[in-house]
Amino acid sequence: MPTAIRLLQLNNVQLVGRLTRDPELRFTTSGVPVCRFDMAVNRNFKDKTGEWKEDATFITVVVWREAGQRCGEKLKKGSPVYVEGRLKSKNWETKDGCGPGGPGGGRRGGRPMMRRKVCRFCAEKIAEVDYKAIPILRGFLTARGKMLGGRTTGNCARHQRQLTQGIKRSRMLALLPYTGE
Ligand SMILES: [Zn+2]
Repeated sequence: MPTAIRLLQLNNVQLVGRLTRDPELRFTTSGVPVCRFDMAVNRNFKDKTGEWKEDATFITVVVWREAGQRCGEKLKKGSPVYVEGRLKSKNWETKDGCGPGGPGGGRRGGRPMMRRKVCRFCAEKIAEVDYKAIPILRGFLTARGKMLGGRTTGNCARHQRQLTQGIKRSRMLALLPYTGE
């Protein structure tokens, strides 16, 4: 065993992006506000051919107490947001929330929250799923051509319904293979 060294522990993240949906403001049984929202952070990069590409990362953010209350009241889908906080496995919790108004102070860890996937179509503001958009539809099929369920895809009910219909239509037009089952 190496000599015990006091190791600096650091877990600090800063993110700038936009909300992909309206925030959810809830209260614990003891009345503590807790706001949860999903944000998308875009990154631009050059691919092998030198062409600029955009790539988005989706992150769920949890903000407690006063800062959470403010987020729940002031933010909405599409709002730009700067988040500083710590990374929690499958979760982010902010330390000082969003916007001006100062730090809300360090938080107790909080209980783990259900991770919510972001509906890809909502995130990209696609109102109607296009049944001719084969590369997109294909992304929701398994290698064997079976359709993935809403729980797997993270799509909202409305878009999942449209997707099911879109895939059916594409199959009828023989743009996509039927499942082997
Ligand atoms: Zn959706």
